[in-house]
Amino acid sequence: MDLHGVGVGRGVAVGPILRMPDALPEPEKTSHAGDAAAEFATVTASLGAVAGDLLARGEKAGGEAQGVLEAAAMMAQDPMLADDVKARIETGTSGERAVFEAFAQFQEMLIGMGGYMAERATDLGDVSQRIIAHLRGVAAPGVPTSDEPFILVAPDLAPADTALLDLSKVLGLITRDGGPTSHTAILARSKSIPALVSVAGALDLADGTVVIADAASGTVHVDPSADAIADAQARIAERAAAATAPITDGALADGTKIPLLANLGSPKDAAEAVALGAEGVGLFRTEFLFLDSKTAPTVEDQQKQYTELLSHFPGKKVVVRALDAGADKPLSFLNDAHEENPALGLRGLRALRAKDEILRDQLTALVNSQNETEADLWVMAPMVSDSDETDFFVKLGKELGLTTVGVMAEVPSLAVMADQVAELSDFVSIGTNDLTQYTLAADRMLSTVASYQDPWHPAVLRLVKLLGDAGAATGKPVGICGEAAADPQLAVVLVGLGATTLSMTPAALADVRAELLGVTLEQARAKAVAALAAHSAAGAREAAAQA
Ligand code: PEP
Ligand code: MG
Repeated sequence: MDLHGVGVGRGVAVGPILRMPDALPEPEKTSHAGDAAAEFATVTASLGAVAGDLLARGEKAGGEAQGVLEAAAMMAQDPMLADDVKARIETGTSGERAVFEAFAQFQEMLIGMGGYMAERATDLGDVSQRIIAHLRGVAAPGVPTSDEPFILVAPDLAPADTALLDLSKVLGLITRDGGPTSHTAILARSKSIPALVSVAGALDLADGTVVIADAASGTVHVDPSADAIADAQARIAERAAAATAPITDGALADGTKIPLLANLGSPKDAAEAVALGAEGVGLFRTEFLFLDSKTAPTVEDQQKQYTELLSHFPGKKVVVRALDAGADKPLSFLNDAHEENPALGLRGLRALRAKDEILRDQLTALVNSQNETEADLWVMAPMVSDSDETDFFVKLGKELGLTTVGVMAEVPSLAVMADQVAELSDFVSIGTNDLTQYTLAADRMLSTVASYQDPWHPAVLRLVKLLGDAGAATGKPVGICGEAAADPQLAVVLVGLGATTLSMTPAALADVRAELLGVTLEQARAKAVAALAAHSAAGAREAAAQA
């Protein structure tokens, strides 16, 4: 039997599963003994204890996990939530029940908001369970322990669980909920744990059932044959060998250089990217720096961050993207109006043009950082629709003093106009995440349409080819910076379609480096031709493998 879901990364794991224990039962609708102040004081102590515990776990985990756990600790200390709990206790409700109701109401609100916010709802549910467990004096629900390695199966994983996973025991993760951008996915990717999310039926598996969790194909093979297990184990060994292979510059078997770059969201991640062999940065997501800002960041604030980033890459290329605000990453100082379909709304360059001074400030900060460091700074705009918008952005960037200015290809209309765009832009970087979402008309945050979010679809590949051809005709670089570049087989096809650089989450660099070394440019082009002629994403994958 096979179960299907959305694979995170390319990993594969084989082993028995263990399920996450069930959540604590819902607290009964009971009243407290009568002293509301004393009841609230007990709850306040638990809120503080849980926040403290989350912060301590964060410190132990470090890295990306620390930020996630700090955010969870902030939820436990949120003054609005505490006020809500207090108000409920004052009407006689018991502390446990008040916590349960207040958090549940807030969770519902987040789910109603959809996208990124909805995916944070799981985190809130976990914090609520921890507080209730503390009030009851029982252990917080969490990852099961076992002497033998196992694959963890859960409804979804809270950051507190994912961050402290014992990687010598947990071979892989399978969750019933969660989308490609849920915390399970983000942390699994950064820790290189094979993972599948959105797997219907996962919770029906009995503890001890042996499975192959194959993230590359999005499949969980239940009770696999001995041959299938041997095959999966060979793939695991291959991946382990690739991870320890010497770090060389990205190149094909015939010596064609394909620089391998990093996608980053904070200057703090730069050192690790360099250690993993990133030859520069292909996408720096500046909006991640300001997600919590209520007001637009100053030129000085921004310059400090950009200079810190650039100083890690002397003599190397660093592609910084102007603020991509909107849709699942709203910035309150740029997106202030409610939109029914924010992914199709005032997002990226559109939002920046509506608040021209914020765009000018950002570009000015970048010019200042360019002038005080040795890095080769390239700057690009997100969500660009055509050559007119390209012209606007490139002219403005150059007028303010930037050297290399380009655009992202994320909206299909830009790819259709690729010949005109390539004439005007210094470079193009293809954001396959959004290009896929817009080409297939499927919200990339929505797990019900996650199967459409597949950049192997020949419609997406045909748009990439238009961009690759336009780049070749004008001698302009064409990079890939969406998740597609992190899929080794697809990376080869993208090179065959004309991509000149590939940028990805640093954990994916080793796999892609190894795969590129196995093909010549001629072979990559033959695989691209085969994939373009396929009728579906699955067909393209198959055709490329056979070519
Ligand atoms: C993309 O859309 O592929 C991309 C790289 O941008 P983001 O994922 O930040 O939208
Ligand atoms: Mg995008």
